[in-house]
Amino acid sequence: MTQGTYFAWELASRGDAPCVRDDRLQLSYVQFAQRVDAVAQQLAGLGVGPGDMVATFLPNRAELLITLMAAWRLRAVATPVNPGFTDAEAEYQLGDSGAKVVVGQAPVGDPARIFLDVDDLAVRPTAQWTPPTPPTEADDALLIYTSGSTGRPKGVRLGHDNLHFFGRSGGEHFQCGPDTHALLILPLFHVNAICVSCLTPIMAGGQVSITGQFSVSRFFDDVTRLRPTFFSAVPTIYALLVSQAGGVPPGALDSLRYAICGAAPISPELLAKTEETFGVPIVEGYGLTEATCASACNPVGGVRKLGTVGPALPGQRIRIVDANGDDAPTGQRGEVLIAGPAVMRGYLNRPEATAETIVDGWLHTGDVGILDDDGYLRIVDRIKDMIIRGGENIYPKEIEAALATNPAVLECAVVGAPDPLLGEVPVAFVVGYPGTDLTADDLAEFVAPQLTKVKRPSAIHIVDALPRNPVGKIDKPGLRRQTAAAGQVQ
Ligand code: AMP
Repeated sequence: MTQGTYFAWELASRGDAPCVRDDRLQLSYVQFAQRVDAVAQQLAGLGVGPGDMVATFLPNRAELLITLMAAWRLRAVATPVNPGFTDAEAEYQLGDSGAKVVVGQAPVGDPARIFLDVDDLAVRPTAQWTPPTPPTEADDALLIYTSGSTGRPKGVRLGHDNLHFFGRSGGEHFQCGPDTHALLILPLFHVNAICVSCLTPIMAGGQVSITGQFSVSRFFDDVTRLRPTFFSAVPTIYALLVSQAGGVPPGALDSLRYAICGAAPISPELLAKTEETFGVPIVEGYGLTEATCASACNPVGGVRKLGTVGPALPGQRIRIVDANGDDAPTGQRGEVLIAGPAVMRGYLNRPEATAETIVDGWLHTGDVGILDDDGYLRIVDRIKDMIIRGGENIYPKEIEAALATNPAVLECAVVGAPDPLLGEVPVAFVVGYPGTDLTADDLAEFVAPQLTKVKRPSAIHIVDALPRNPVGKIDKPGLRRQTAAAGQVQ
């Protein structure tokens, strides 16, 4: 790929065609490009240059996308922070990524870091401005935080080559063109929102409508009013939409050509009900941040197999290996491995975690799957210690670390318990030091300031001991089975 073809360089040539809109702004490609240049110039004035980290602490709005592209214009790297994070959670990402500037609605984290109020972002370059050399495909573009298979959140380094590859191949898979119109409802700190709902349509010359805080009524109003051609969502959102679709006027959804579902397993029943409601195919895909969002996806036009996440996307490869690392025969379960141009560069500043995750070019996903004779993948389980609550990943280690800061906690374990709407919710099992008077209510109150609402355990069980497996490790699969059998979820 040649220089000069990166996102921000392509925009202006698309003229007055609609590019990005939200509740406040409605921008053509030329206007969007102008805003990107203006913010790039402003960031350059604050000392941002190649390789520097620019963070956003923003809800979904056009300026978030503008800031990402402005960073790329300077060969800087962008890291979007979940705007729902507590100050401590946000500071962890800002500090770990080495963010130089944060663009937000209110200051967050270390006050010594440069803060740029989103309302003070420049809208027009002040003078003829020549940006530095365009990024090369070797430059990092995005740093997205996720825990991978273990441990505290780590920054996943995605390069311009990763984003371009996905933007192009995803665009082909989803049949994107200038008439594509994405309705963005997923949060922009997640790679699916950035890549599937923004970069693929923008690379194809289409448009993106960014909606604010998700609600079912808002969603149906937006689809009726804006007439998008597709949107991407998670099973919990589909469950909510299907349950409240009764009042949608006939024809209101007929601009849609398909919708995409990913991030967590969707049941064939919910998928069928959703297709009936929307009257279009719901295309299920599978992926992870470490592989630039989607690695497998059912085709939009071809053969879809319900209960599978489709075959590997063009240019990507999927293997299933058994516990010895040998290829599992077709139809047999094993860990899902992914290779190809969408695989990340690695985790920022964590060579060991990177080396454990990418072995001989194959990304170890921590997911368990089965490939059928046609190469369609079925995700059947997860090896990694992760809970998917309403499509959002929650890492038990973070909750356990917060619980463990209470001096009365001897040890604890957090596992996912099944929930009919959210898929899974975190539930904690805690052992107190002998002689301490630990209550679930006190502990819940204690951890609340340390954890975003979604990470707070739905139930805390004070127990005498945690179950162990034969090698002495806490038996999390056993706890998971126990919570599922007891129907623990409130
Ligand atoms: P993230 O890095 O946030 O995109 O999360 C990736 C993880 O979400 C994967 O490793 C899977 O565990 C899970 N996941 C994504 N898509 C699906 C799906 N369609 N079915 C089941 N699990 C999924």
